[in-house]
This record gives sequence, C-alpha cells and structure tokens, in this order.
Amino acid sequence: MEQKTYSLVIVGFGGMGSYHVQLIEPCEHLSVTGVYDLVDYRMELAAAKGFKAYDSLEAVLSDETVNVVLIATPNDVHKSIAIQALKSGKHVICEKPVTITSADLLDILAVAEEENRIFMVHQNRRWDEDFLIIQDIIQKKKIGETFHLESRVQGANGIPGDWRQLQAYGGGMLLDWGVHLLDQLLLLTGSKIDSVSAELSTILGTEVDDGFTSNIRFKDGLTAVIEVGTTNFIKLPRWYVKGTEGTAIIRDWDLSGEIVVNNPDVVKVEPKPIQAGQGLTKTMAPPSEESTLRLPIGKPESTKQSFYDNFVSVIEGKSEPLVKNDEVHRVLRLIETIFEAAEKQVILKGLEL
Ligand code: NAD
Repeated sequence: MEQKTYSLVIVGFGGMGSYHVQLIEPCEHLSVTGVYDLVDYRMELAAAKGFKAYDSLEAVLSDETVNVVLIATPNDVHKSIAIQALKSGKHVICEKPVTITSADLLDILAVAEEENRIFMVHQNRRWDEDFLIIQDIIQKKKIGETFHLESRVQGANGIPGDWRQLQAYGGGMLLDWGVHLLDQLLLLTGSKIDSVSAELSTILGTEVDDGFTSNIRFKDGLTAVIEVGTTNFIKLPRWYVKGTEGTAIIRDWDLSGEIVVNNPDVVKVEPKPIQAGQGLTKTMAPPSEESTLRLPIGKPESTKQSFYDNFVSVIEGKSEPLVKNDEVHRVLRLIETIFEAAEKQVILKGLEL
C-alpha cells in the first residue's frame, strides 16, 4: 500500500467508515492504513482490502505510526474514543453528530487543546451542490433580500438500521439528519437566532424521533422551516427560498429547480385572473410571463478545498479549519433548543444563539 505523509486508522468500519476509504483515496497526504471495529466480519472485510486490522482500540492508539484516528462508530461512543485518541497524541476526525450533547463536545475540545491536537467534525454536507447553489443565490442576492427559506429531506423508508432507533446510541433523525440541515442553515445567515418552535414526529413508534419540523426565526427577520421526514411517500422540494425580488426552488439532489424573479427591464404587468376551483383569482395567479424572468439555478464553483485536504493543512498550521468547532457547538445547542421547544410545546423566544 502506498505510504503518504499521514497515516489514518478508521474506528468503526460500517457504512460510513467504509465510505471514507473512497473519499480519502484522492487526498495527496492522507492514507487509510488500518481499521478497528468491534465486529469480526467487518475486520475481515478490512483485512481483505489490505488494511491492518487492529484487535483493540488500545492497539490503534499505542501504534506510533498512526497520526490520525477517524471515528465512524455509532454516536454514543464518539466522545470516549475521541478523548482517548487525543490523549494518545492522535489528531482526530469525527463523524457527525459529533456528540449527543453540546457539553460533551466542550469536554473533547478541552482535551484537544491540552494535547495540542486537531479535532475536526466531518460536516460533509457543507460541500453538497444543492446547498452551495442556495448559498450562492442568497449571498449574491439573486432573489433580492432573502426573508424565508425551507430546507427539507424526506424519505419513505423509516429510520434506517438498528442503533439509529435507540436513544442510548444517540439515535433519532434530529441528531442524524437534522445536524446537517441545521449546520447548513447557520451558514446561510450571519444573524443570531431569536426564536425556535418544533414538533418531533413519532409516527413509527420508536423511542426516538423519526423526523421533526422546526420553525426558526433569526434576529434579522429571516424565518426558516427545517424538516426531516422518514414517512413521506411523496416529497416536498429540497429547498424553497423566498426573497424580495423572487423565489428559488431546488426540487431534489438531481438539482432540478429554477429561480423566478421580477424582470427589472419591464414595467410590472398585472396578472390575468385564473380559474381556481369554483372561483376566479388574480391574487393566487402566477406572476405574468412578461414581467418575470425564469432563470436556471446555476452551478456552484467546484474549486473548493476538500474536507480532508483542509484537515491536513490545519494539522500543518497552514489553514484555518473549514469546519470550525464553535460552529459545530452552536448547531448542537440549536438541536438541544429544538428538543426543548418540542418537549415543552412552546415557542422559545428571546434566545441568544
Ligand atoms: P454503521 O452501523 O453502519 O457502522 C458503525 C460501525 O461501528 C459498525 O461496524 C460497528 O460494529 C462499529 N462499532 C460500534 N461500536 C464500536 C466501538 N466502540 N469501537 C469500534 N467499532 C465500533 O453506522 P454508520 O451509518 O456507518 O454510522 C457511523 C457514524 O457515521 C455515525 O456517527 C453516523 O451519524 C455517521 N454518518 C455520517 C454520514 C455523513 O454523511 N457524514 C453518513 C452516514 C453516517
């Protein structure tokens, strides 16, 4: 196996652990050299792929040739593995949700600081094209000032796997998918959050949420609806964003969508009334073709540094992390606020978040 500058061992070689192998492959300075998993057949798979199969976490941590530990286990053990790895002098990449509580993350960060090691969370959906397109639309004010956005992921297949259905493992869809959508949301505005309300879904009868809907209002007036569903046989659009000059929609990960904006070059033409059910309406008619433009949603630039290249660069003191731990901490605090709002069935107002 080709030796690159930094040797990385994956702890937890399930679905995501195995996928990291593929993701790290193009990285110039980082190579996966070994694997540790509790389950024998996972270790056999790893050995068959040519990776060193460690027989315990201690064996990984006492191996001085290992520079980086990547944690891709269920969520409940991220904290203890991260702290042990940092104390053994390893840099750490950890899967999301980094921890189950925001206080747990602070405990890890204190150790990372003491040990002078890098700890970074794999918030990979910051690189999703649909998100980058929406970020570009908002930043460049392509629909004027954005005042409302809706971000949803919906499936019809329930909560996947086994541990995601159990509270003790940090299961539930708010922690699983919510952490991605909320992380993206907080990158779309520089404003602090003013109020949060939420409803958890428990249609499937599991001990954890099988989805949620949260309404979030920012201090600058932006409102957001964030929704994760696992009982949706028909999905709503992935993104729906309203601005003072137009509306943008991205329907799915295939990036189908469009932007409709006021045409600045024509005087507004009144729409014609349309038949709507048993009545006529002009209010609910689409905007007139003459006074609006239908634009493609565009493509994001693909020159962004990868998560792993950035991680290496941070280790070498050459870059700031693209995923900052204080951002990750804020997302966990927002998740805690959503749980609290849902449990109390109230709008939590006057927040400083
Ligand atoms: P999984 O169940 O497929 O794999 C988890 C693996 O960890 C299993 O092979 C299990 O045997 C092993 N394991 C459990 N406890 C362990 C321990 N103490 N030490 C070593 N190995 C242990 O789960 P998954 O879907 O791969 O999820 C793993 C992590 O990755 C979770 O935190 C999840 O949220 C995250 N994840 C992230 C993304 C993403 O897009 N960033 C996608 C999927 C999963």
